[in-house]
Amino acid sequence: MTTIHFEAVPAVEAHRRTPGLVVMKFGGTSVGDTDKLKRVAKRLVAAREAGSKVVAVLSAMGKTTDELIRLAHEVSEQPHPREYDMLVSTGERISNALCAMAIHDLGHEAVSFTGSQAGIVTDGSHTKAKIVEVRAQRIHTALEEDKIVLVAGFQGVSTSTHDVTTLGRGGSDTTAVALAAALGADACEIFTDVPGVFTADPRIVPTALKLDRVTYEEMLEMSASGAKVMALRSIEVARSYGVKLRVRSTFAEGEGTWIGEEDDVVLEKAIISGVTHDTSEAKVSIIGVPDRPGIAAKVFRDLARAGVNIDMIVQNVSQDGAASITFTLPKTDVPIAEPILDSLGAELGASRIERDPDIAKISLIGAGMKSHPGVAADMFDALAEAGINIEIISTSSIRVSCVVRADQVERAVQAVHDRFQGFAQARVDG
Ligand code: ASP
Ligand code: MG
Repeated sequence: MTTIHFEAVPAVEAHRRTPGLVVMKFGGTSVGDTDKLKRVAKRLVAAREAGSKVVAVLSAMGKTTDELIRLAHEVSEQPHPREYDMLVSTGERISNALCAMAIHDLGHEAVSFTGSQAGIVTDGSHTKAKIVEVRAQRIHTALEEDKIVLVAGFQGVSTSTHDVTTLGRGGSDTTAVALAAALGADACEIFTDVPGVFTADPRIVPTALKLDRVTYEEMLEMSASGAKVMALRSIEVARSYGVKLRVRSTFAEGEGTWIGEEDDVVLEKAIISGVTHDTSEAKVSIIGVPDRPGIAAKVFRDLARAGVNIDMIVQNVSQDGAASITFTLPKTDVPIAEPILDSLGAELGASRIERDPDIAKISLIGAGMKSHPGVAADMFDALAEAGINIEIISTSSIRVSCVVRADQVERAVQAVHDRFQGFAQARVDG
């Protein structure tokens, strides 16, 4: 049996390779209606006829998951997590079963599995479960019987309760990558409605370029800072297990974008892989808190206990013994944070708390900036020339992020992309 342990044990077990196997994942827009499902069926059959072994992972059709979640909230203010997973996991059953039918009509054998039937074993945390193991025997058997295997994305089964779990929004990407790792596939292909990963959102920057290659690290940073092309966790799994990823279009031919290990030749010429933006966060400032040990620890401990996800944090230099702490958090976490902030404010004797939902974060990403000074300065320069004020700055070794006014973010993305267009071009030509 091929057993691969995901978060519990590092990737020490040499998992069996399945030569010629490709995992093909199709997102919701790619299977938006039955005609599109039939086209996907044809694409899977074509891959099979070209000699590949095929495991497909399909998302739910179009907006099905949104609709199921809406129904849940119509009957219950806080849907029971177990029943929520029972409900929302059905979207993927529909699309995968329909596609298997369409494949049969094309004269090929196909079988669709739920996550549980496919051996996707998760922890027990409903609505945000993590894959701990893939027991792939049933898939191997079906492949040996020359079948195209379809696996319902975004779901698994809990080891402890044997209940159906889901992996969180966008979780089909993680299903696909985990299967590619466990089965030892040659590659995991993410089919979507765009031709690949772009240097910026092409709706904002018409001159944005499709990247031929991007490193795992860059893709992680891009996804974490607002690029929507792939779910963040799926890239983490791909990097841990060295799964070769390729993002490509469902509706057109084309090479797409390969995501893999760092490539020195490319990075030398092309310092930058992209400019991303994120309007999903809000900013909070706690003004006038005592400047003594333990205050920041208290603030962020209380917020963490409530499950609030903090992104950027700055604390200013104190004046007259009082400091201010500013941070960003997802807008969706603001209602959870509100009561905690109120009681923190009172407890710490803060002079006031400011909330600001009208912010956006723009990030510049590139593995080449590690060895190339001046990238941050160039970015700030481009923003200054565009007359855009920077409110918060944070960095990692391959990313520079700035918080700006939300209504200026599109201009900010254009200005920064223009400044670095030459570097991005080198990436595509290189
Ligand atoms: N259908 C799920 C969602 O909409 C999972 C996915 O598409 O990846 O979030
Ligand atoms: Mg998706």
